[in-house]
Amino acid sequence: MFKGVLIVKDYAGFRVSVTDIDEGQLPQGDVTVRVSHSTLNYKDALAITNKGPVVRKFPMVPGVDLVGAVEHSTHPDYKAGDPVILNGWGVGESHWGGLAQKARLNGNWLVPLPEQFTPQQAMAIGTAGYTAMLCVLALERHGLTPADGEILVTGAAGGVGSVATAVLTRLGFTVVAVSGRASEADYLKSLGAVEVLDRAVFEKHGKPLGKERWAGAVDVVGSRTLANVCASIKYRGVVTACGLAGGMDFPATVAPFILRGVTLAGIDSVMCPRPERLEAWRRLGKDLDASKLATISREVGLAEVLPLSSKLLGGQVRGRIVVDVN
Ligand code: NDP
Repeated sequence: MFKGVLIVKDYAGFRVSVTDIDEGQLPQGDVTVRVSHSTLNYKDALAITNKGPVVRKFPMVPGVDLVGAVEHSTHPDYKAGDPVILNGWGVGESHWGGLAQKARLNGNWLVPLPEQFTPQQAMAIGTAGYTAMLCVLALERHGLTPADGEILVTGAAGGVGSVATAVLTRLGFTVVAVSGRASEADYLKSLGAVEVLDRAVFEKHGKPLGKERWAGAVDVVGSRTLANVCASIKYRGVVTACGLAGGMDFPATVAPFILRGVTLAGIDSVMCPRPERLEAWRRLGKDLDASKLATISREVGLAEVLPLSSKLLGGQVRGRIVVDVN
């Protein structure tokens, strides 16, 4: 038996608990991992609170992230004892996930734990941080350099936003953060933001084109915020869209794209091909100041995952939550 979060939905309704799970119930896979830490991401919180259609099969162990040591493997690339990370691939959605002491997975989904990080640090990064790095890689792929001007990061005090702010600053970009929490201004400045703007300004109904200010942006909010961000990007600038914390809609016009040559780059971490994942983790090892991870994250136990899920969806959690599953 091992401990884990289990989501059940049946004739009696939706239930979630921390419980003992029989190892015989683990799904198919060629690698069994003894999980040391997982995380609480936005998507996990949606799954645990039944607020979004994240879980596609019940019962389900949530958790899109995990780090641990291989316990048993028939995959050619992994042997017992190897430290590994998993992010995404539908884990915690259609395949049992990381918020448990054991997981059985497809070895092709795993990434070796980069030597720069402890297991806790890897989870302080987690899917949110790895997605932040995918955003940075996309900005770079479209040619942005620090000389081009300021980069806007929305939802900045959350997981993706915190890591994006820290990495972009370390790379020499000037980062302006957008946050709904004035109380987190000092935190965001400690990560490197030069200015913190009020989220409310970006939530108003805006014009198709505004004053050109930002060379690029990392947006986790979507909805009107993303539309207003696109409208204020400089000629030929780039916006990476990775989230929907403010809504799934996108009430924009094509004006920024056809008149200013703005690029809207979509970011998906779940099915991202392995070579780009490896590159994102390599770059995190190089371009994220690991000492910042202590500020960005805090550690909790499995029992705290349930109450924290509602807080996270309410925008009340700062940075990243690392879950020690043991
Ligand atoms: P967090 O909850 O940690 O951060 C989201 C932040 O957005 C909050 O901290 C808050 O920041 C801001 N926010 C919250 N609610 C609202 C709102 N109603 N309107 C505007 N801003 C809001 O989540 P993550 O950083 O982990 O994820 C952010 C988004 O990115 C989520 O939508 C998530 O689903 C998505 N995501 C997508 C991935 C992909 O592969 N495309 C991978 C990972 C995440 P503040 O208080 O500073 O304003």
